[in-house]
Amino acid sequence: MLIDTYGRAATDLRVSLTDRCNLRCTYCMPEEGLAWLAKPDLLTDDEIVRLVRIAVTELGVTEVRFTGGEPLLRPGLVSIVERCAALRPRPRLSLTTNGIGLARTARALKAAGLDRVNVSLDTLRPEVFHTLTRRKRHQDVLDGLAAARAAGLVPVKVNAVLMPGLNDDEAPDLLAWAVGCDYELRFIEQMPLDAQHGWKRDGMITAEDILASLRTRFRLTPEDGAARGSAPAERWIVDGGPARVGVIASVTRPFCAACDRTRLTADGQIRTCLFAREESDLRGALRAGATDGELAELWRRATRGKKAGSGLDDPTFLQPRRPMSAIGG
Ligand code: SAM
Ligand code: SF4
Repeated sequence: MLIDTYGRAATDLRVSLTDRCNLRCTYCMPEEGLAWLAKPDLLTDDEIVRLVRIAVTELGVTEVRFTGGEPLLRPGLVSIVERCAALRPRPRLSLTTNGIGLARTARALKAAGLDRVNVSLDTLRPEVFHTLTRRKRHQDVLDGLAAARAAGLVPVKVNAVLMPGLNDDEAPDLLAWAVGCDYELRFIEQMPLDAQHGWKRDGMITAEDILASLRTRFRLTPEDGAARGSAPAERWIVDGGPARVGVIASVTRPFCAACDRTRLTADGQIRTCLFAREESDLRGALRAGATDGELAELWRRATRGKKAGSGLDDPTFLQPRRPMSAIGG
């Protein structure tokens, strides 16, 4: 098992498949993109599947989520999913994506063994989508969402970040739309993980702001507190149910004490936290011929170094060197 010194067990693995992306969301990447990882630095498909196998068979990981950058840009995605689905014990498999291209691949991903998707969509207005992502691909995302639902990648979750002055008036509209489409909406507070270091605590839209805005149109009742468990989203029942809405208050109500995450970057580094400033290199050991047991031990050792919390409230907090897209959100 991956147990840290605070007694938390990391059972949920986030695997970043690429740092590249076809959007340029303002809270994530600069307009010109970033210096992408060189191909030889990326883990190969075989290396990824080997590390996931070690995580699942030796380290107690039960959930694997593929992310990025944009994971649909990884040519081997369907085959990676298929090989991970063949592992025993079989991990639950999910994908976080911006949805572009999902209309083409949703059925193949489902057939390969993917269980669920989270699709990121921050606005229902195409022109606001263009401003937020710097690309005119709004309809592609809507098509991707519909294809995911039709393929049975359910429950389809939608991740939305609200940005002041851009889409912060859209929370109720997004919820009405998501309920109507049978998608489960989750709002994520904007975090200081953008490459441009443009995040300001004063300006961010908080969970409280989001809930106040939703309550102007919906009756929200908290789900049983126990149901949150280690899940970062606090969930509310909408207008008596069955619809739910989640709010991930990573900044204002962090859930570090119950964190069960471990992360593998596209270049084979273990990160114990989104906000960690340290990484542990698995790729070097793997390519130097380490055995499964040695790689598992490196992963356990990295986990023992996991800090109690994100440090966001510490006056000395420094943003991690890598932005969200290179860590794997
Ligand atoms: N490209 C895929 C996508 O957008 O879903 C996967 C990677 S993206 C980094 C994962 C999630 O992180 C998305 O839902 C995105 O909205 C969110 N995200 C990116 N930057 C963020 C930030 N600074 N604060 C909060 N969430 C952020
Ligand atoms: Fe790309 Fe996702 Fe970052 Fe947007 S949030 S730029 S879609 S990686």
